[in-house]
Amino acid sequence: MSTPSDDHSYLAANWAAARARVDEACRAAGRDPAGVAILPVSKTFGPELVRAAAALGLRRFGENKVQELREKAGALADLGLEWVVIGHLQTNKAKDVARLASEVQSLDRLELAEALQRRLEVEGRALDVLVQVKTSPEESKHGLAPEALPALLDRLREWPALRVRGLMTVAVNSEDPAAVRACFRRLRELREENVARGHALPRLSMGMSGDFPLAIAEGATEVRLGTAIFGRRSYPAAP
Ligand SMILES: *Cc1c(COP(=O)(O)O)cnc(C)c1O
Repeated sequence: MSTPSDDHSYLAANWAAARARVDEACRAAGRDPAGVAILPVSKTFGPELVRAAAALGLRRFGENKVQELREKAGALADLGLEWVVIGHLQTNKAKDVARLASEVQSLDRLELAEALQRRLEVEGRALDVLVQVKTSPEESKHGLAPEALPALLDRLREWPALRVRGLMTVAVNSEDPAAVRACFRRLRELREENVARGHALPRLSMGMSGDFPLAIAEGATEVRLGTAIFGRRSYPAAP
């Protein structure tokens, strides 16, 4: 993997390499590469780099802080990009999200769903949402408890501005591939259980730069890649 330099040519190389690695993981899992999308995660990188990525044809970008999303959406308004929120959201940020985002993958509680629905009604907009489920035992990880998922999915049916498309998770941070893979398997099983209860959940967003082949093996339809595309972040993003 290359690292940032004055020109952005490393970006095209990283993007091609990331896509090739995702395709390879699909083949290894006996899956069609067309069934796995990549969400580029641009958090902590500036608008110029996102502009360079857009020039490569990338249209959707994952961000985990609303303040940062607001700055980039403003600086890049001419490009008509789609912003995907992947970070823990405070309810008081619902207004900006309802205005600027095209999708939220970190919907993890009823209170947030209510706030988003209210603001979306005001804006006359709708959002695609994925429910983030906590499949890892780590305290620091966000997400809804798996046991609470059926009830939240049932409630979300009442709110048409939130178009539920599937589930998202962040796996445990572990050197043990079996422990990581168990998180992804859990999300896939939760999808199956809730599809059997009558919910349409076509999407599974799981897998990051360090663990995406395991997620693809367990059925990810979308992997979220930051480091693999943009390079190492020079300061840590909030979890
Ligand atoms: C930062 C982040 C990613 C991307 O992480 P990398 O390891 O850089 O690929 C994916 N998902 C979430 C929720 C993130 O916060």
